[in-house]
Amino acid sequence: MSRILIVEDHLANAKFARTVLVADGHEVIHAPDAEVGLTLAREQAPTLILMDIQLPGIDGVTATRMLKADPATADIPVIAVTAHAMAGDEERILAAGCMAYLSKPIDYKVLLKLVARATGDGPPRGKDE
Ligand code: MN
Repeated sequence: MSRILIVEDHLANAKFARTVLVADGHEVIHAPDAEVGLTLAREQAPTLILMDIQLPGIDGVTATRMLKADPATADIPVIAVTAHAMAGDEERILAAGCMAYLSKPIDYKVLLKLVARATGDGPPRGKDE
């Protein structure tokens, strides 16, 4: 079980991710913007952060850079979540320190695979792998 922080301003998206992650056995905390997200990251020491890139105020790329610049939060893996897939975006997101990039609408299987990779408790390998 991991504690996962979802930073996401759209409640429906946050609810979907929460449902998937809770069903997978994780504890989920939610922040509706980067400011709250940065505070929760410091106070709650999540195992992993799902970071929406398009946020009101501080955007997800900037927030990730801030997390990576703070020794208290630098080691928490961040998975970026974005609806935008413009040229250069993925490079910019990974350069900010995100471990991976997830496109909206979120595919729950891809989400769970990335979460397993990030939290180090991957599922047993199937015979088709
Ligand atoms: Mn958003």
